Amino acid sequence: MEIAALDLEGVLIPEIWIGFAEKTGIEELRATTRDIPDYDELMQQRLQLLKDNNLGLSDIQEVIGVMTPMDGAIEFVNWLKKRFQVIILSDTFYEFSEPLMRQLNYPTLFCHRLIVNELGVITGYKLRQKDPKRQCVKAFHKLNFRVIASGDSYNDTTMLSEADAGILFRAPENVISEFSQYPAVHNYEELKREFLKASNRDLIL
Ligand SMILES: [Mg+2]
Repeated sequence: MEIAALDLEGVLIPEIWIGFAEKTGIEELRATTRDIPDYDELMQQRLQLLKDNNLGLSDIQEVIGVMTPMDGAIEFVNWLKKRFQVIILSDTFYEFSEPLMRQLNYPTLFCHRLIVNELGVITGYKLRQKDPKRQCVKAFHKLNFRVIASGDSYNDTTMLSEADAGILFRAPENVISEFSQYPAVHNYEELKREFLKASNRDLIL
């Protein structure tokens, strides 16, 4: 019994905040945890920028609504679902991911929630738990699942290390060299092969 655990942004869909910054032209929204390592500080800055620019949840969903999954992502998820129980572990928010998850035919997604008031203004956010990706893999192990995980960035590395097998997908060079114990692949065909290799069952491509 095997679970395929996938990161979302950078693996199946583009980075949401960067896409949103491009569509709105608000440059400061491009900031990531690489610029502001403290996640709460970064999120407070983002929420302030949304407020300053009078952007409510519906405006954001409209912008995200025209974003599309990465080329080949829909086919890849369908391929994976036929061979594994697929679960997406992400640090995004349900309210943002909805338009993109619709295009991916709603695979199971574990992420966080935004706090939105009656006027549609985002007033805060609620993280489901600390170190959520690792905690999920631990919980799957308790349920007797073997876990093969794939992600592209630092926030995936605790998930990869907790999993029975980890695969880096389109990770930046610094992540690849720092975590050289994981195979690093750059397209979905290679990723499929790594999933098959990591599986303990006889699966075909
Ligand atoms: Mg990612």
